[in-house]
Amino acid sequence: MSTAGSHTASAAPPPHPTTVLLVDDNELGRDMLTRRLARRGFRVIGAADGLEAVARAISDQPDLIIMDMSLPVMDGWEATRRIRADARTWTIPIIALTAHVMADDRVRCLEAGCDEFQSKPVDFIRLVDAILRLGGLEGADGAEAKG
Ligand SMILES: [Mg+2]
Repeated sequence: MSTAGSHTASAAPPPHPTTVLLVDDNELGRDMLTRRLARRGFRVIGAADGLEAVARAISDQPDLIIMDMSLPVMDGWEATRRIRADARTWTIPIIALTAHVMADDRVRCLEAGCDEFQSKPVDFIRLVDAILRLGGLEGADGAEAKG
């Protein structure tokens, strides 16, 4: 008999853990959002600038990217364009986050290749909804988050 209950050979394989690449140069904000997403069952990896985001997208092949647009070294628009232009990463959904409220920014985000645009401060329930929808996971684990 299993002693720890960890061997359930006949059970279905565990659901694919969705890996989210969270790109934000604000470490406190990144850490807070990382913890909240981890509590919802996502595996979260981080990047603090656009260049690092492009590198991690290639090396880690996340299921989805949450991209702050205002970043040092390389901004989120350029990082998004590079991710879209690379055969290794072009299919990864990208949710743009920006504190800007200009209508222009929404258009710029979409033109750069983002799938969705959300404004800061983050509406967590709305963000999780977008992750599940863009990741094809809608309804997978009860999307009615309590935050
Ligand atoms: Mg920023």
